[in-house]
Amino acid sequence: MNVGEAGEFRLIERLCRSMPLAAPGLVVPVGDDAAVIRMGGEEDLLATCDMLVEGVHFIRDRTSARLLGRKAAAVNLSDVAAMGGWPAYLFVSLAVPGDLPVAWADGLYQGLGEAAERFGFALAGGNVSRHPDRVVVDIFLLGKVESGRALLRSGARPGDRILVTGSLGDSAAGLALLDHPSATVPAGIRERLVAAHQDPEPRIGEGRAIGAWGGVTAALDVSDGLLADLSHLCESSGVSARVHADRVPVSPQSREAADALGKDLLDWSLSGGEDYELLFTVPPEQVEMAIRLLNGDGMARATEIGEILEPGQGVLVLDEHGKTMRSGASCGWDHFRPKLPMGDTP
Ligand SMILES: [Mg+2]
Repeated sequence: MNVGEAGEFRLIERLCRSMPLAAPGLVVPVGDDAAVIRMGGEEDLLATCDMLVEGVHFIRDRTSARLLGRKAAAVNLSDVAAMGGWPAYLFVSLAVPGDLPVAWADGLYQGLGEAAERFGFALAGGNVSRHPDRVVVDIFLLGKVESGRALLRSGARPGDRILVTGSLGDSAAGLALLDHPSATVPAGIRERLVAAHQDPEPRIGEGRAIGAWGGVTAALDVSDGLLADLSHLCESSGVSARVHADRVPVSPQSREAADALGKDLLDWSLSGGEDYELLFTVPPEQVEMAIRLLNGDGMARATEIGEILEPGQGVLVLDEHGKTMRSGASCGWDHFRPKLPMGDTP
C-alpha cells in the first residue's frame, strides 16, 4: 500500500501509532485543531502547524508572495481561533529554489508581518532550506487560551445545534474563477471571491467571543469542507449530525459565480473547503445567545444549520422537504485523493 491508497487520515492514524501520544501537561494531544499544553499558570499553550506547498496549495504566478504570506499565517491562525485562543509566537520553515528572487521572499514576510501586526503575534524562529524546484512554507504557531477553556472537537451531544460563521463556498468559488479567467462575472464579484480564496480571514475575534462565553460544546474550523469537518467533529464527539442544505449560508457572489460557471453551489458550500469559518455546537437553548455574541461590528455572523444526532448515522444532508439528499462520511479535502485545489497535478 502506498500513502495515496491509505489516504491522509489513515496515514496520520498509522504514523501516530509509532510515537508516544501522552506526556505530562499535554491535555489535548493529536486530533484537535491544536494541541493544548498545560503550563501550570492561568493560560494553556496552543500549538499547531500547517504548510503551503507550491503546486499543491498554490501556483506561484497566480498569487502574490505577500498574499501567500498572509494565507500561510491565516490557515494556522484559524486553528487557534477554533480553540477559542489568541496567537502568540510564530515559527517559519521555508524551503525555496535557488533562483527565487529575494524580492519574492521579502513579499512573503511582508504578508506574514501584516498578519502579525493585525493579530498580535511575533516571529519567534524558523529556518530556511534550498528546495530543487518549489516553494514550501511551513508554519508552526503557538497560541494561548485561558487554562481549561480551549474549545475542543469532542464535546458535542445529541440535541445540540450546529452553527457556522460567515458564508461557505466563497473560497471554492474564487478558485473556480481562477481556473476560468474568461468567465463572465462582474469584476467586483470576482475580486471578492478570489480574495476569499487567496486572503482568507481567520476568525480570531469570533473564536474569542464564543470561547470566553463558555456555552460552546464543540468547535473546529472549516478547512477541509463543511461535511468533512463536521464528520471530524462527529468522530471526536462520538455522535452523528444532520445539516439542512437550505440553511447553509452562501453569499450572493458565489451564487452568481456558480450560475456563470454552471457549477453546483451546494457542492462548493458543503465540500469546497478552505473556508476557514468556525463550525461549532451549542445546546438548543443557547442558539440565540451564540448568534447575539457574533452580532458585533465586523464580526462574521453565525447561522444555525443543523442538529447533532445519536451516534451511528454519520453526517446527513437534508433538502428543504426534510428528505435525505446525501449521507455517509466525508467528501471534502484529503491530500491524497485526486481532487487538487488548483485543478492540476503538482
Ligand atoms: Mg482546523
